[in-house]
Amino acid sequence: MAEFENSQKRAAELRDLLNYHSRKYYVEDSPEIEDFEYDRLMRELSEIEEKFPELVTADSPTRRVGGVADGQFEPVAHDVRMESLQDAFSIEELRAFDSRVRETVPDATYVVEPKIDGLSVSLEYSNGIFSRGSTRGDGNVGENISANLCTINTIPLKLTREIEEIEVRGEVYMPREVFIKLVEQQENNEEKPFRNPRNAAAGSLRQKNPKITAQRKLDIFVFNVQKVNGKVLTSHKQSLDYIKELGFKTVPFYTPCKTIDEAIAEINRIGEIRYTLPFDIDGAVIKVDDFSHRGELGSTSKFPKWAIAFKYPPEEKQTKVIDIEINVGRTGVLTPTAVFEPVLVAGSMISRATLHNQDFISEKDIRIGDTVTIRKAGDIIPEVLNVVEHCENSLPYSMPELCPSCGAKVVREDDEAAVRCLNTDCPAQLLRNLIHFCSRDAMDIEGLGESNLELFVREGLISTPADIYSLTAEQIMPLERMAEQSANNLVSAINESKKNDLSKLVFALGIRHIGQKAAKLLSEKFQTMTALMNADFDEIMTIDGFGKIMADSVVDYFSMPQCIELVDRLMASGLNMKSLKEVKDMRFEGKTFVLTGTLPTYSRNEASAIIESFGGKTASSVSKKTSYVLAGEEAGSKLKKATDLGITVLTEEQFNELIK
Ligand code: NAD
Repeated sequence: MAEFENSQKRAAELRDLLNYHSRKYYVEDSPEIEDFEYDRLMRELSEIEEKFPELVTADSPTRRVGGVADGQFEPVAHDVRMESLQDAFSIEELRAFDSRVRETVPDATYVVEPKIDGLSVSLEYSNGIFSRGSTRGDGNVGENISANLCTINTIPLKLTREIEEIEVRGEVYMPREVFIKLVEQQENNEEKPFRNPRNAAAGSLRQKNPKITAQRKLDIFVFNVQKVNGKVLTSHKQSLDYIKELGFKTVPFYTPCKTIDEAIAEINRIGEIRYTLPFDIDGAVIKVDDFSHRGELGSTSKFPKWAIAFKYPPEEKQTKVIDIEINVGRTGVLTPTAVFEPVLVAGSMISRATLHNQDFISEKDIRIGDTVTIRKAGDIIPEVLNVVEHCENSLPYSMPELCPSCGAKVVREDDEAAVRCLNTDCPAQLLRNLIHFCSRDAMDIEGLGESNLELFVREGLISTPADIYSLTAEQIMPLERMAEQSANNLVSAINESKKNDLSKLVFALGIRHIGQKAAKLLSEKFQTMTALMNADFDEIMTIDGFGKIMADSVVDYFSMPQCIELVDRLMASGLNMKSLKEVKDMRFEGKTFVLTGTLPTYSRNEASAIIESFGGKTASSVSKKTSYVLAGEEAGSKLKKATDLGITVLTEEQFNELIK
């Protein structure tokens, strides 16, 4: 009895946990735990439900395929259900799968292919032309993301043959290199970085603006024919060969295997080369090849009985922490980094991993000299999992009380996990600020990277961004690694950056909480640096997407004398201080017009278009909320109502005056 009650309690806990993480993963594209951990929890719940079937609830995550469409895009009902896959974590489970298959189809043969870690999509074509693309959603209903899919160059918009109708299924993914660059960019912009390439691909694909998707350099591997009319296909291998001919980019390799032993050998081979592939895989799939055999085997409510996915465990290694280094960031935050004895993990040598902050270190009790287990989160970012063994005579680690760069006392604010050096003249912060100021998304000064900036600071040539604009070729030339040509190039790159748009400069200033996007919004709203410096909290809060923390941070920044002095010096050096983006004339913003009667020259549509181009709205009936009534010949009851309510009535001539 106790066992049943414990299981009941645990099942409820697991359901809540899984539902929470499933939402984070599918709807918010922001997972908090590793997939392997999620799969482990799911398995624990399945095992409880298998033992006590009465504990299965209607909303159990074990019964669901994938995520839900969250209403951002138009729904698409899938003609052929987009199923999930049953998974296996051990070789025994693969053998058990083989026995189940052979009970029904004794002479089944398999195809083994890599399981791409991306986002499942369906692509539909009629008469050889791309007609619609959608996400999987819950398997029955997904979302129409055709516009975004069209930006992926490897998805053919026209097939090599005019086949009547075909629907294929593929996995959209982000190549690992593209992901690494994207995360770097996000970190520079102080945006929250994506956790792994899958989650970056999902976030990029479900963008409302296809232009953003296009910039993300996504790719696809097609792995199945869902439906076809106009061609007879009898096996998986034949269908993949056929769609390759049609112009699809199919899974990079698919290997026919006669027996389960051959399939297991192929799975082991893929496991060995997985980290050499330029994209992420989270497993390998064994599929029954012959379509008639698949028909005999059928499906459960969630997945086909003719396929199984073997999931590779994340690679974990042990190593020694030889030091904990402290870096001082641009905003003064002290970040601890563990330095390891180098070790090969998931395809690359790892010698460092961030330890985030004191809480993280204390929770795991990580000390210098300890042996720790490390792995790569999402197979990319190294992290410390736990301590295996403390070093003899070691002491718990504490973050320094003084800034390692300038010696000032550091503080930990109440609501923050981080400790911070508040000295605005701290050399480490100055250097980080200079690096940020010159970086590509900020002032984009070619040749002024970390090493040159370090050199110039060391030589006493610069200490603030404003000093950069007084540098001369004569000062630079005598320094190490510098020649006449490179000094001249550098000075001209510095001068060139003076022309940048205001938004780049605002971002370059490094105002806390103001990333690239916020800097753009600020410069579009205020148009000039002077107007931005004088803006008050309420004005900044009117910007869509700005909250209290951001608005406060801008006001605080421009109230600090050293910041005002910096901007004044930049102005004096001749930097552009205006937004280059044309301001839209919004003179009718918040005003509602009602049109009535026949105007002498404008049609109703023309007049409405003019009003809307100035940010105004038109309505069909007069109310207290109406700002103006634009009346022409034979105006009727609307004119009367406007006069009764005391609303300004305009003739076309007066209207023309207003829009002059
Ligand atoms: P799945 O990822 O285990 O397998 C099914 C999917 O594999 C299919 O949808 C298909 O798109 C894909 N696939 C890739 N290559 C394929 C190939 N060659 N042939 C066939 N299919 C191929 O199952 P799922 O239902 O898509 O999602 C569950 C996954 O999501 C699990 O890996 C789980 O860990 C993860 N997840 C993680 C969290 C988290 O918080 N970390 C939360 C929810 C789900």
